[in-house]
Amino acid sequence: MNRARIILIVLSIYIFAAFGWWTYAHCNNSRIIYLQQKDVLEMRCYKATFDIQGAINQDLFEDTLGLSKFFAVNYPDLEVVYVNVNDPLNNFMVRPTLQSYQDLESLYNRKLSMYIAEGIVMILLLLWGIFVIFRSFRKELFLKKLQGNFLLSITHELKTPITAIKLYMETLLKRNINAEQMRTIADNSLQETQRLQDLVEKLLLSAQLESHKYTLNKQSINLSELVNEILINFNNTRPDQQKIEAIIQDQVIIMGDPNALEMIINNLLSNGLKYGGADSLLKVTLDQVNKETILCISDEGDGISDEDKKLLFNKFYRIGDENTRKTKGTGLGLFIVKNLVTLHGGIISVSDNHPKGTKFKIKLHSNAE
Ligand code: ADP
Repeated sequence: MNRARIILIVLSIYIFAAFGWWTYAHCNNSRIIYLQQKDVLEMRCYKATFDIQGAINQDLFEDTLGLSKFFAVNYPDLEVVYVNVNDPLNNFMVRPTLQSYQDLESLYNRKLSMYIAEGIVMILLLLWGIFVIFRSFRKELFLKKLQGNFLLSITHELKTPITAIKLYMETLLKRNINAEQMRTIADNSLQETQRLQDLVEKLLLSAQLESHKYTLNKQSINLSELVNEILINFNNTRPDQQKIEAIIQDQVIIMGDPNALEMIINNLLSNGLKYGGADSLLKVTLDQVNKETILCISDEGDGISDEDKKLLFNKFYRIGDENTRKTKGTGLGLFIVKNLVTLHGGIISVSDNHPKGTKFKIKLHSNAE
């Protein structure tokens, strides 16, 4: 990739230089041609004078009228000026007409503008081409990073439960264990299996969303009740140090898919707890103003840089380096959330929480069909 980039830079510099030179050389040639044409025009005056002298010597002209006629026919780009009116046929001078000078100059100017315009158009096209190529380079690098993230995180997320289940099964086979221990092992194995199932479902859902095959099953639902139920669930499972403060407006009714909305809220809440820090406060608010429903989830974690905010909703995007990252995850959660919100006709945004942390805000139209 880097080699290709260097080749492109060198090639671009060469093309720009060659183009600059081409434009300069053409403009310069036009100027030389213009000066030469001027010289030719002026030299034609000598030839014309010589021809007229010959004609006068042969008495071909009786007066200036005849001479002027001869001039108009044979030298339309020249004019004759009579210096002495008393003896005009012996005292005249030949010079280029003002019009012929102007014609040469406008031809030169036309060529010059043509080369400059062509140069500008080509340079703009070139700049556009280089910009497009660089953009696709960057995109490819970004996709490569996502692919790397995906492989590392997915391997880790698959390996951990499989290893755990294997260990539990080995324990069951090797040791004599009582009924209570058996129950603990079975419970743990079930949890790990659930983890695997969740991961596979997330992958499937992402694929369906990406190929636009996922459809919502919309119905009128009480979002206040749904958020409260999910919060009760979370309150039962989260560590004691993490607090959740909820301000939920009553009777917020919207048209939506309950499963999809549950996934959205679950994902944002678990992210808030996961990235919010050990003894942080997670704030959840739900309001309905006019016909707009607004759900906000803000944590007190390290926050997200502006650069990452733009990329966060991409599939498999995880902040930082997968090799050194401490938190578990796949980078699928926010991709799914964003797509489900969009399918509901809503908008999700991410901003800084004050004094610290991150705030996710979802706007839904209350009566969206
Ligand atoms: P996952 O959590 O499985 O990695 P997500 O799609 O839910 O995937 O999140 C993508 C990335 O966004 C996470 O890896 C994390 O780096 C970042 N992120 C998500 N939510 C938060 C948050 N509340 N605070 C800080 N970073 C966050």
